[in-house]
Amino acid sequence: MSLRGKSGVVTGSTSGIGLAYARALAAEGADVLINGFGDAQEIERERSRIESEFGVRALYSPADMAEPAEIARMIAEAEQSLGAVDILINNAGIQHVAPVEDFPDETWDRILAVNLSAAFHAIKAAVPGMKRRGWGRIVSTASAHSLVASPFKSAYVTAKHGLAGLTKTVALELAPHKITCNCISPGYVWTPLVERQIPDTMKARGLTQEQVIKDVMLLAQPTKEFVTVEQVAALAVFLCSDAAAQITGANLSVDGGWTAA
Ligand code: NAD
Repeated sequence: MSLRGKSGVVTGSTSGIGLAYARALAAEGADVLINGFGDAQEIERERSRIESEFGVRALYSPADMAEPAEIARMIAEAEQSLGAVDILINNAGIQHVAPVEDFPDETWDRILAVNLSAAFHAIKAAVPGMKRRGWGRIVSTASAHSLVASPFKSAYVTAKHGLAGLTKTVALELAPHKITCNCISPGYVWTPLVERQIPDTMKARGLTQEQVIKDVMLLAQPTKEFVTVEQVAALAVFLCSDAAAQITGANLSVDGGWTAA
């Protein structure tokens, strides 16, 4: 229960990696605010499951991470209802795949807003309270695409590279305040999002499920295994611990060796 007495906000935590972060923080005793879109009943089930399983408080905010005013309101609500935002995990993210000359302008703007600017707005809103309390942990989910590129993902790769730069800048600014700022860069993680892509890719390329997984999805991942959401969340919990007090400004890969190549 290393995070008992702390409160955390996890953006984009109604599914996948974000939900795993929220559950992992709660398992360590932290109160959490979850955020994201989805079926209202399903979200409520996950929220109340966190409370009953881990004996912590869990709130839900439907704030749209593309809207700076909603982000500021969400952080204020967490501070008011949970007493503080000691831990901020910027995780909400979206993707679109298209050649650069066909990439829709509004999709570019939305990906930059959700995957990059949202982290800036959330950090800006949460930092004054962290400074006052003299303790804070900021973790953002970047991606292997913060370090290397893939074709047809111009907005996503740009946003994730930007997130790595924002992480380093904020880390330097906050280093004297006992607030760390790091990002985690996963390779391919097994999430519902990834799982849902398999049938379409099988159809489009005439491949078996195993071929899609090994030869398409995990082509660049030397271990030929997906990262799990629990593995990513475990690193975030470690970054929130006192043992990680001197880790700041880092971009930590969890990518089965992808970016070592
Ligand atoms: P996911 O689709 O399961 O989760 C994304 C979450 O973000 C959901 O809760 C969704 O509701 C929320 N979200 C989307 N747009 C939002 C908005 N405008 N406002 C608020 N919430 C919003 O995907 P995931 O795979 O768990 O991805 C989470 C993060 O991890 C993303 O930043 C993604 O880029 C990153 N990532 C994922 C992988 C992977 O292989 N799955 C790899 C590297 C990085």
